[in-house]
Amino acid sequence: MGYSVTLIPGDGTGPEVVEAARRVLEASGVKIAWDVVEAGADVMEKYGTPLPERVLQSIRSNGVALKGPITTPIGTGFRSVNVALRHELDLYACLRPCKSFTGVRSRYSDIDIVVVRENSEDLYTGVEFDEGSEEAEQIVAMSGGKIRPGSAITVKHISAYASERIIGFAFKYALENGRKKVTAVTKANILKFTDGLFFRVGREVAKRYEGKIEYQELLVDNMCMQLVQKPELYDVLVLPNLYGDIVSDLCAGLVGGLGVAPGANIGDKAAVFEAIHGSAPRYKGMNKVNPTAVILSGVMMLRYLGEKQAADAVERAVVAVIAEGKEVTYDLKPHRDDPTAVGTSQMADAIIRRMKAM
Ligand code: NAD
Repeated sequence: MGYSVTLIPGDGTGPEVVEAARRVLEASGVKIAWDVVEAGADVMEKYGTPLPERVLQSIRSNGVALKGPITTPIGTGFRSVNVALRHELDLYACLRPCKSFTGVRSRYSDIDIVVVRENSEDLYTGVEFDEGSEEAEQIVAMSGGKIRPGSAITVKHISAYASERIIGFAFKYALENGRKKVTAVTKANILKFTDGLFFRVGREVAKRYEGKIEYQELLVDNMCMQLVQKPELYDVLVLPNLYGDIVSDLCAGLVGGLGVAPGANIGDKAAVFEAIHGSAPRYKGMNKVNPTAVILSGVMMLRYLGEKQAADAVERAVVAVIAEGKEVTYDLKPHRDDPTAVGTSQMADAIIRRMKAM
């Protein structure tokens, strides 16, 4: 019967990497009926919005989507489609596995960290008051001299509800994926109420997993140093929105960067799988960029659907092709202008051939 999955090609180099991923996932033998829907700057004219209702309907009805990157034009005023999707579908957990691959140049080996970032609150909900605004001055007055008059103000808010569901998500993920430890990360020594609440909830959730999953708390500054010095000690990290944003890029950097870094945004009713990287518009239509990050996002999607064997098969083939280092895109070659680099679609072909030969 197979699965119905929403496919959003995106823009820039999105359609090329998504097509490569689609072919690889289909070659795994899992039957998928793709519902292809368009979103982004290119459909603005046709539908009057970069995120047509049809896209949301499709994801709501299928519950699962594979998405290419979408450009956020600067200064046109339209809201990021990526942010809007997360908000509309309440995709509260951003999941980013960061794993070392042989053949990907990086300063470290042996890293296998999963970053779980809270997506729905903290400093990212846009509750901001500009310098000189009436609201900002009201808050200045309430601060009892702690905030300098004329300041611009952004509100950081953390709730027990959202902390419980993201930390619960991290523990559940850890348990289901054979992980040993969850590290909660904040700056609770300074932000005693907001980040303090996150840690308090962390301890409560951890009690439910006692004896199964270890729980640890670290301050975000220390976490950054630890990740640079001893990244192999860390397993699953769970963080509020802002720290999660920064630390997940740090972790992607530890394992070799954007071309190989997959991700997912997951809620209780829907999940959208996508690479961390953007639309790399200057390479649009050149069959040049690395499809690995979207393919590995597809691997996460297969696991989410319960197709573990197929997921493992695709992942093994990706790992083998990268380790061999022959049929890989320019970014995985020792020199970026290496003439032996292959294109996006040829790298996908190599992965498919490898999968069939295994
Ligand atoms: P980018 O990720 O598109 O590019 C950054 C650098 O990484 C570039 O040098 C690019 O060439 C390289 N790169 C990116 N993907 C690659 C790949 N698959 N293989 C090889 N090299 C790759 O980031 P940017 O330039 O900051 O953003 C471009 C656009 O993408 C912006 O409009 C941004 O808002 C959008 N964006 C979208 C998403 C998303 O849809 N989830 C995420 C990030 C950025």
